Amino acid sequence: MKKVIIVRVCEIFLKGKNRFYFVNLLEDNIKKALSGIKFEIVKLQMRYLIEDFDENDYELIVSKLLKVSGIHTLSEALCVESDVDKIAEAAIYLCEDKTGTFKVETNRADKTFPMHSVELSAEIGGRVLEALPKRFTVDVKKPSFVVHVDLRENGETLVYSGVIKGVGGMPVGSSGKGFLMLSGGIDSPVAGYMMCKRGMKLASVHFHSYPYTGEAAKEKVITLGKKLAEYSSGMTLYVVKFTHVQEEIHQKCSEEFMITMMRRFMMRITERLAELHGGQAIITGESLGQVASQTTESITSSNSVVKMPVFRPLIAFDKLETIEIANKIDTYETSILPYEDCCTVFLPKFPVIKPRMDKVLKEESKLNVEELVESALKDVEVIEL
Ligand code: ATP
Ligand code: MG
Repeated sequence: MKKVIIVRVCEIFLKGKNRFYFVNLLEDNIKKALSGIKFEIVKLQMRYLIEDFDENDYELIVSKLLKVSGIHTLSEALCVESDVDKIAEAAIYLCEDKTGTFKVETNRADKTFPMHSVELSAEIGGRVLEALPKRFTVDVKKPSFVVHVDLRENGETLVYSGVIKGVGGMPVGSSGKGFLMLSGGIDSPVAGYMMCKRGMKLASVHFHSYPYTGEAAKEKVITLGKKLAEYSSGMTLYVVKFTHVQEEIHQKCSEEFMITMMRRFMMRITERLAELHGGQAIITGESLGQVASQTTESITSSNSVVKMPVFRPLIAFDKLETIEIANKIDTYETSILPYEDCCTVFLPKFPVIKPRMDKVLKEESKLNVEELVESALKDVEVIEL
């Protein structure tokens, strides 16, 4: 009996003629996620099989596959010759650590197999009951678990029970590349994950205010970046030294516009980096009304300095909904570590909550915008994660 992993895809099979593009992309992403591990991948209709791996690597492989977007579900399966005794042996093995009610469901793709599916299900169910007496009862309507018997056309049968839910969505790379504005907070990593789920490859931009924000703040962002990189099939992090821009704003503009101005510069610099490095969109972790810089008026102000689409997947999320996903993708514990963000440096006592565009433009006219953007772009640290 050999162990295999069934990998199922969902949406990409709705893609008609482009299907092969998506299927091949997903296969490449799977291979990249599992690089360094011994395995074979077999492409079947609507699914893949991962096989020939060392059984000790099973948990590791599953944990990596659960970060590959485009994968709908996984199942650990036993692969045996299509022979009643062998199938029964596999089914009994699967049931050994279980109790309760069950049923057997057969999918008979191999039309030459001598028994019909209902017949085979009954036979295998009977053999399980016989081998593990008093442990189970059959319940075909509401069983506590189902043993699936999948008779393949190649003379092999997959026997499995239970599915593990994957990321879902589309394979990374199928929706272009987005530049995520990555702070050390809770929201932006979740925003990045959500765009990966829809097939976006990520690059991240972090604004750092050395010496006001220390090395620990940067390290924290690198830790978050590494976690996201697993969903993004690798990721480049651009660390922008933002101190000079902030000092200029602080010196020349009215204090209450500090955050409004910073946001506009962050957006401009992110767009320029995206243009230079093949990005097509900007991603932020903004959520409507969460803080002063995330009112409709503030978003209008920061949005108006860029031409690229700005994706804000959390715009309608409550904090608790975001935290739930942050926990799922294991970024929450890192995000809540104490740190200073560049936005907390020079924080005004009373920031404008609903900035008026005429006032914003008046304040900004006190600065040499292009020169500040250029100076920030001259000294960007590039980290491959
Ligand atoms: P987060 O939890 O993502 O930090 P937040 O709720 O703290 O979000 P803000 O600090 O107002 O909200 O930031 C809004 C968005 O601006 C962030 O989600 C992120 O996309 C971007 N951002 C904020 N600070 C930085 C930074 N230092 N570097 C890069 N992007 C940033
Ligand atoms: Mg923040």
